[in-house]
Amino acid sequence: MMSSRVGGKSKRSGELLAQKLHAEGIQNVEVLQAIANTPRHIFVPEILAHKAYDNTALPIGQGQTISQPYIVAKMSELLLANGRPANILEIGTGSGYQTSILSQLTDKVFSVERIQALQWQAKRCLRAMDLHNVSMKHGDGWQGWASKGPFAAIIVTAAPNAVPQALLDQLEDGGRLVIPVGEQNQVLKIITRDGDEFIEEKIEAVRFVPLVPGELL
Ligand code: SAH
Repeated sequence: MMSSRVGGKSKRSGELLAQKLHAEGIQNVEVLQAIANTPRHIFVPEILAHKAYDNTALPIGQGQTISQPYIVAKMSELLLANGRPANILEIGTGSGYQTSILSQLTDKVFSVERIQALQWQAKRCLRAMDLHNVSMKHGDGWQGWASKGPFAAIIVTAAPNAVPQALLDQLEDGGRLVIPVGEQNQVLKIITRDGDEFIEEKIEAVRFVPLVPGELL
């Protein structure tokens, strides 16, 4: 299903994609480096491999999408704005592409996905890249992953209609949550915890698949 080619040509393609994202306003050097180093074609269905380094979202099956590289980079940069977080919780593993970028930007990533088939495929890709600091859970992201928290950073890559309380609870003091919120009109938000206060900033309009509540597939 997925191509296993890692290296050579894809390295050059990753570098060109990073240059494009830099031109579009991504500044963080570590984020750009991670984009340059990551073979995005292994995370997309083989039939779409020729589009893997375009700056677009692509279907990955099960009605889900791999996020647009610009938004992956933007959300990663927002999480790193106050320095390198010690750990990161990700909700919505999907293809595992965003996960692989995060894995290069922190010591430990925890990632929750409700569709098991996607999670298995993502695991294979991370192994192919030799990334071993990611723990995955098949579960409902609305609940977060309390036993592994609190987290210095939390990223949600599907849109709920309101910020899940569990995610706020699992954010450490000074920690940052980046999350798209809304249904038809979604906005990307960054929420910073200051004791019992949550300071919210709106970043830009975005388009994500919904964060589905409950039942697992
Ligand atoms: N960052 C991913 C984006 C995947 S799309 C990538 O670049 O590939 C969003 C993912 O969120 C989908 O895989 C979807 O199954 C998952 N998702 C939706 N609702 C969820 C929930 N309640 N809990 C966990 N994952 C969920």
